[in-house]
Amino acid sequence: MFQKSYDVVVCGGGIAGAAAAIASARRGQKTALIEKTVFTGGLATAGLIYIYLPLCDGNGTQVTFGLAEELLLASLKYGPGEVPEWRKEKNAEEANRYRVIFSPASFIITLDEFLLEAGVEIWYDTLLCASNVEGGRLASVEVENKSGRGRIAGKCFVDATGDADVAHFAGLPCVAAQNALAHWALEYADGAQWRLEKSITGVSMHADGGSVDKKRGVTGIDGREVTRFVLDGRNKYRERLKKAYAEGKKSRTNLFPLTLPSMAQFRTTRHIPAQYRLRDGEDWKHFDDSIGLAADWRKSGHVWEIPWRSMVPVGLQNLVAAGRCTAAEEDAWEVTRVIPTAALTGEAAGTAAALAASGGRSPDELSVAAIQDAMRKAGNPIHLEEVGLEAK
Ligand SMILES: Cc1cc2nc3c(=O)[nH]c(=O)nc-3n(C[C@H](O)[C@H](O)[C@H](O)COP(=O)(O)OP(=O)(O)OC[C@H]3O[C@@H](n4cnc5c(N)ncnc54)[C@H](O)[C@@H]3O)c2cc1C
Repeated sequence: MFQKSYDVVVCGGGIAGAAAAIASARRGQKTALIEKTVFTGGLATAGLIYIYLPLCDGNGTQVTFGLAEELLLASLKYGPGEVPEWRKEKNAEEANRYRVIFSPASFIITLDEFLLEAGVEIWYDTLLCASNVEGGRLASVEVENKSGRGRIAGKCFVDATGDADVAHFAGLPCVAAQNALAHWALEYADGAQWRLEKSITGVSMHADGGSVDKKRGVTGIDGREVTRFVLDGRNKYRERLKKAYAEGKKSRTNLFPLTLPSMAQFRTTRHIPAQYRLRDGEDWKHFDDSIGLAADWRKSGHVWEIPWRSMVPVGLQNLVAAGRCTAAEEDAWEVTRVIPTAALTGEAAGTAAALAASGGRSPDELSVAAIQDAMRKAGNPIHLEEVGLEAK
């Protein structure tokens, strides 16, 4: 078994994990990022989820800043999207808010650049498969890659696996959810244009979203179920192509798949048992321990403070969660699981992990004010009043 040791170990390299690793490394901590695929970005890139949802409230006020905004702009660095004019409207449609459509491949190469520039040690093609707990503290995780099995120790860990794998492997009673079948693919379609982008004519996204098979109730945390979910999605896509060819309007030469998702497209799988679970209807609520703001992408004029306690597990020290495995229920989870909020909680988790590692403490022993202060200094407003809005 190979052995390695870091100050901060970030598990899972989706948007949340990438943001956490960048935030930690920028604070001078020796930081590892463990990712089972060979891409960072997770669902946003490997999963072909190409819409970076809004950083604004839909009424002209930007609410999410910091790394979430840096990464939104980074997603466009190697083309071809543009930031829309977003300040003009009240009650704006999602497409007219501060959000972008990006090329997943462009985003991947920029994320590599950002992580390496920050000094993060990336471990691609490395699967996290066990968590080692000593005296109530997470001491190390076990991984497998081409070198075999290894143990990676850390002063502090971030669970950004999307599925709360680190917490689950440590024996914590995580909370599971249900998923509808989804299948987004990138295809060539004659005459089609990349949504909003006229420059790559012929490329379109095909999305079978939550409207299909809503009753299916797939949790995404059972090994066999994951395979069935992936095969069902591809089967639906194949049927769609066959139907289009049979109707005679399209043929295999002017409608065909370009890229399929290399990650199962589960929205909500498992989240940590946290000190606080963000609940439906808690938009506009003041939380003393807020780490930043997130807007509801489905409707304008709904803004949430995200409490630090929703990222801190109960029953295990040295771990903080980020992204879609932070604790939130139904409606609130719709807000915390998406790309901008994953970047926000990722930045907060990486910042807190760095503070904890450098101070020889566990994240749950940190003063919330110290985390908020560091987040503010990095450009993140913490409370609604800081962007001119008011808690209700
Ligand atoms: C169908 C669908 C549509 C969506 N639409 C949108 C949208 O339009 N806009 C939007 O903003 N969001 C959308 N989302 C949500 C969004 O894409 C993700 O929820 C968000 O990117 C979450 O990021 P994350 O980093 O928390 O998790 P993930 O993206 O899931 O990242 C987790 C990472 O951890 C890695 N990992 C997991 N387990 C292990 C392990 N054991 N060992 C090593 N690595 C591991 C994974 O490979 C992955 O890279 C959608 C999601 C789905 C499924």
